Amino acid sequence: MSVMTPARIAQPLAHYDGLYPFQQNVFDNCMEHADDARDAQAFNRAMTLAALAIAIDLPASGSIVKCACAECDCAAIFDPAAPGLRRVEQSGEYNLPRLQCAHCADEHPAPSED
Ligand SMILES: [Zn+2]
Ligand SMILES: [Zn+2]
Repeated sequence: MSVMTPARIAQPLAHYDGLYPFQQNVFDNCMEHADDARDAQAFNRAMTLAALAIAIDLPASGSIVKCACAECDCAAIFDPAAPGLRRVEQSGEYNLPRLQCAHCADEHPAPSED
């Protein structure tokens, strides 16, 4: 697709760095649970708790991810269904995609995978 769209970068839902340590703990835990979840129910529960822990509404996609950028530590937490994201690596056995946030994808996109 080569459609030119105006650069509209979606704002992150939260910043990991801005969370209290206990929120980070619960968030990390929930993200691990979501990654390892064996069914949709367990995944949804983990995602709901992750959103609750960081005091945001779970987006319509039903999931949130933290920026997996290797270039920086931007710590953005965002909706994996938002536009302008870039896949960093295949998530393989994980449920959650490894994505760069829209800002990182714009500023320093990860090299494409072979
Ligand atoms: Zn980022
Ligand atoms: Zn980055």
